[in-house]
Amino acid sequence: MDKKIKEELKKLSAKYGGTALFGASLPSRSTVGIGGSADVWYEPFCPEEFRDLKRFLTDLGKRAVLIGNASNILFPDGRLKAILVNLSSDVFKEINIDGATITTGAGASLGSVISASVNAGLSGLEGLVGIPGTVGGAIKMNAGYKSSVSDLVERVLVMDSTGSMEWRDKKDMVFGYRWSSLDDDEVILQAVFSLKNGDKKKLRERLKRDFKEKMTKQPLDKRSLGSIFKNPPGISRKSAELIDMAGLKGAREGAAVVSEKHANFIINEGGAYAEDYMRLVEKVRQGVFEKFGILMEMEIKVL
Ligand SMILES: Cc1cc2nc3c(=O)[nH]c(=O)nc-3n(C[C@H](O)[C@H](O)[C@H](O)COP(=O)(O)OP(=O)(O)OC[C@H]3O[C@@H](n4cnc5c(N)ncnc54)[C@H](O)[C@@H]3O)c2cc1C
Repeated sequence: MDKKIKEELKKLSAKYGGTALFGASLPSRSTVGIGGSADVWYEPFCPEEFRDLKRFLTDLGKRAVLIGNASNILFPDGRLKAILVNLSSDVFKEINIDGATITTGAGASLGSVISASVNAGLSGLEGLVGIPGTVGGAIKMNAGYKSSVSDLVERVLVMDSTGSMEWRDKKDMVFGYRWSSLDDDEVILQAVFSLKNGDKKKLRERLKRDFKEKMTKQPLDKRSLGSIFKNPPGISRKSAELIDMAGLKGAREGAAVVSEKHANFIINEGGAYAEDYMRLVEKVRQGVFEKFGILMEMEIKVL
């Protein structure tokens, strides 16, 4: 990393109170526990600090990569020459409830927003139970389980590459299956969800029941990135079924293993490398293609 850039980033973090880590270790910063280190891991204290960071990088022709909880991102082995930004300061995690509307920072975990809404007797978000992402990552990916983020989000506060911020209504965004029209250069800072009034006790029971059910279907107690492949369009079989029918459950490369519980999950048994993981991803994709002639598209992001 260029010394001058490092000095500028140190100055910026000292000015606002954020954190700039150089050579940050990545495995502990991702749900799958894989990766080497990153040139820079930057945690801005507030939107103004993030705006100045964006402007500084844009002037240099560089771009920051937003990382939520990295529950859908595979980091590479070795040194990642990138500036990773994480919205983990408290300012980006605030949750406010007004009537049946919940406004939340993009860095808040989905779990904390679901709890806050259910405790307030508001229904809707509990359909996203067990998704270990942040609000920002869930909107960008249009995450879903019993319901999808796009069913509930009303508007988002977006910062563009120049550091300008604007509220964007849902009608001005497009959402698809595990996809949203937000540009890779745009960052979600806040989101507003419109919910419905419900019965607290029933909501809590539903949350418990759905989480239990998810636990029986998915290896939530193991390190993974969730579903590796999107379900192929136009056929009734899901990717997990195709992988299972191709006899790939339990397939392994090093410590990366196709889960016996849910064939679309690849788990890190401990000490897996990104290279192992990707070799296994390709083995599974190839195996399904050879058996069914279907080329599955990856859901996870590979940096
Ligand atoms: C055990 C397990 C179970 C899972 N179950 C489900 C499930 O049921 N349904 C489902 O849909 N997914 C599931 N996932 C996948 C994953 O949790 C979701 O995709 C989640 O929404 C990703 O959020 P994140 O904060 O971890 O984002 P990350 O993985 O950090 O990032 C994902 C993408 O979002 C971008 N991003 C992150 N934050 C922002 C932001 N503030 N502004 C703009 N872009 C941003 C990143 O740059 C990246 O492109 C599961 C994962 C695991 C490990």
